[in-house]
Amino acid sequence: MGITHNRDFTPTYHKMEELSPLVRRVVAENPNPFTFTGTGTYVIGRGEVAVIDPGPALAAHLGEIVSGLDDGEVVTKILVTHTHTDHTAGVNDLVARTGATTYGFGPHGDVPDEDPLEKVTFDEYFTAEESAEFKKAWDETPPELRSEGADQDFLPDVAVGDGDTISGDGWTVEVVHTPGHTSNHVCFALVEEGLLFTGDHVMGWATSVISPPDGDLFDYMNSLEKLLDRSDVRYWPTHGPAIDNPHDYVRSFIEHRRNREAQIVTALNAGPSDIKSIVPDMYAAVDKRLWRAAANSVYSHLLSLHREGKVSVSGGTPNLIATWQLE
Ligand SMILES: [Zn+2]
Repeated sequence: MGITHNRDFTPTYHKMEELSPLVRRVVAENPNPFTFTGTGTYVIGRGEVAVIDPGPALAAHLGEIVSGLDDGEVVTKILVTHTHTDHTAGVNDLVARTGATTYGFGPHGDVPDEDPLEKVTFDEYFTAEESAEFKKAWDETPPELRSEGADQDFLPDVAVGDGDTISGDGWTVEVVHTPGHTSNHVCFALVEEGLLFTGDHVMGWATSVISPPDGDLFDYMNSLEKLLDRSDVRYWPTHGPAIDNPHDYVRSFIEHRRNREAQIVTALNAGPSDIKSIVPDMYAAVDKRLWRAAANSVYSHLLSLHREGKVSVSGGTPNLIATWQLE
């Protein structure tokens, strides 16, 4: 059983739409390889409303979040799932427009000064022309399209943790801490409608990017299991369409990651190895320009196996260039 993604989603940008009695949404026009068709900003409640993830600092988007409300309605609360800029860049602007109070788990985790992936190259698999072409394409890629940008400035007015509730007139939101995609990621459950706003934890269009050190696959797997103990009937992720078969879908994610893990264990069965050797075999069928991203994925799996005590590192600490062996 694989993951059945759903990419059937064509938003009308910068237009408030009603999704259920207590939920409305405005989709920002910031489509890219990380945001799919853009960031979906949810509006919860009626009258004094809460906004989940303001999204990018696009005036047309933020303007609609305010002007798309009915007469007399005001934004009083801003809830943040996690500190990636496609979710938070518009926070300050929306606060300036509304005076709303911000809620979130806490600041972004530590970000290394340099990209640790710089140490992992697959140059020997490229011809000189391919290398040059790859480098040129990368140099021409704007920073926001190279990775999901960490917002290291956001600090919530109110820090919330797992099980906390935030409420307004006729609505109650429960905070569900789901570290993994980032260490400060939370989902928000709308109790009255059995909905879970999953941010980037579980999305219909793609799997989450888990980028160490702040991204943590071990935590992510536990955060997936955590959703299986809940009875939310529908998920609304930040990017893309709703997920209507939450438990089956989450199980397929868990299975997908377990399969990848099994492949890595198989690779290490032959003896100690490193990421640079594992990736070309494991991803032989995949465009080699994607191997560096794959290296990050294999690394997140190895770190997770390391925390479970299933692998060890010969000499020194776990990192992208370490040699790994089965315990
Ligand atoms: Zn994100």
